Amino acid sequence: TPSIVWFRDDLRVGDHPALHAAVERGEPIVAVHVLDEESAGVRPLGGAAKWWLHHSLASLADDLSDRGVRLVLRRGPAGRVIRSLVDETGAGAVFWNRRYGGAEREVDADLKSGLADAGLEVRSFGASLLFEPWTIRTGSGTPFSVFTPFWKACLAADEPRHPLPAPRELDGFGGPYGRGGPAGDHLDDWGLLPTHPDWAGGLRETWEPGERAAHRRLHAFLEEDLAEYAAGRDRLDRQSTSRLSPHLRWGEISPHAIWHATRERAAGTEGARKFLAEVGWREFAWHVLFHFPDLATRNWRSEFDAFPWPRLHPSALTAWERGRTGVPVVDAAMRELWHTGSMHNRARMVTASFLTKNLLIDWRRGEQWFWDTLVDADHASNPFGWQWVAGSGADAAPYFRVFNPELQREKFDPDGRYVGRWVPELDDDGYPEPIVDLRETRAAALAAYERVKASK
Ligand code: FAD
Repeated sequence: TPSIVWFRDDLRVGDHPALHAAVERGEPIVAVHVLDEESAGVRPLGGAAKWWLHHSLASLADDLSDRGVRLVLRRGPAGRVIRSLVDETGAGAVFWNRRYGGAEREVDADLKSGLADAGLEVRSFGASLLFEPWTIRTGSGTPFSVFTPFWKACLAADEPRHPLPAPRELDGFGGPYGRGGPAGDHLDDWGLLPTHPDWAGGLRETWEPGERAAHRRLHAFLEEDLAEYAAGRDRLDRQSTSRLSPHLRWGEISPHAIWHATRERAAGTEGARKFLAEVGWREFAWHVLFHFPDLATRNWRSEFDAFPWPRLHPSALTAWERGRTGVPVVDAAMRELWHTGSMHNRARMVTASFLTKNLLIDWRRGEQWFWDTLVDADHASNPFGWQWVAGSGADAAPYFRVFNPELQREKFDPDGRYVGRWVPELDDDGYPEPIVDLRETRAAALAAYERVKASK
């Protein structure tokens, strides 16, 4: 009886514990990916994410096909789709790597118990996080709410396992599920790519999705940029960060591969320590989501429910989205996002602070825009980042920071190269005045925050 390997946010063949287990089981393999926009609570993908998914699936399909297995594509509620694939193929086992979002966990748990009751071997594996969320706890057994002690506890835990090798050859299940068989959809028919208009030109210029590209990116970063990472990572005008986030988002590379390659190359250096701590922020965001599944919709700090968001001025939101606020570093960053599907971490903090503190627009609006436009938008890091900046999130002692965009620009883009690239009209008379007064709006945000403090 064949083994089904269900590929989800782990679009790779190397360091893939579920695929590895299927190989060890020694029966023919059916590989499947399901586009699920229907299961209850599952968040539909944003536009930039769909673009990435298309290319990542094409790349995975090639890598599997080179090894003798076809990637079957199906669309629908995942539980139903997998059950019918089991019926069609007579599979005796279903393997997958774990997901940690609330809705996804429900789908998986349901399916797992149903299939196990029917006598199938169903196994799930840890593959996307270095540390399983239920293993990292405070001394009193609760989840951490602050990063520094969280990461300390992670570093004191067992070291993450070494990555598993990619299988060289696979035994594919035949018939309609084999190479060229009809038992699935065509990727092109899923409509994941934009057509009219085709807004993805900047994404194509900037990114190369897929597992091989992810590993090339990692090695180029380790070779060329890691040494400068600690000092240069905040600079907007340099590309000294890894740019691995979309590859990690789609699981084209595992954090285990990143961890060990970094340690082998540069253990003990400041660059390695700092870089792995950033990978640790990703872990933290996912652990927070695991314990608080409503992270994208509810304030992590419930006292923040008292924050009086004023009535939304849609034109202010649109100005922010389009990079037309009259604040140069904000506009540069929002245009970079629109064009490339990405934004530097510091710029994410500055633009999120501007939206929530200077425009007083609810963080959920900004989170949704990022969700739709970022190629790395994920269920944890995006809402986590937004809540952290808004002040409603997991952070040390309630702390209400308002970034000053002008100071940030002086500090992190001292020669004006970043802003000059994205806002070339800045030197002309045509560039508008800021749509809000930074000082006044900052004072208004602080006054609004008093309401949160008073409600405690
Ligand atoms: P590097 O500096 O090279 O870091 C290496 C890896 O560590 C990254 O690829 C990423 O996986 C992880 N990482 C680094 N910083 C963070 C962080 N602050 N939080 C979580 N993980 C981190 N990151 C996403 O992957 N997806 C998102 O949807 C996302 N939304 C964000 C929204 C806001 C408002 C903010 C402030 C941050 C957000 N981040 C998000 C975190 C961070 O901005 C990006 O991970 C980072 O810019 C990616 O660039 P890099 O790969 O070059 O990072």
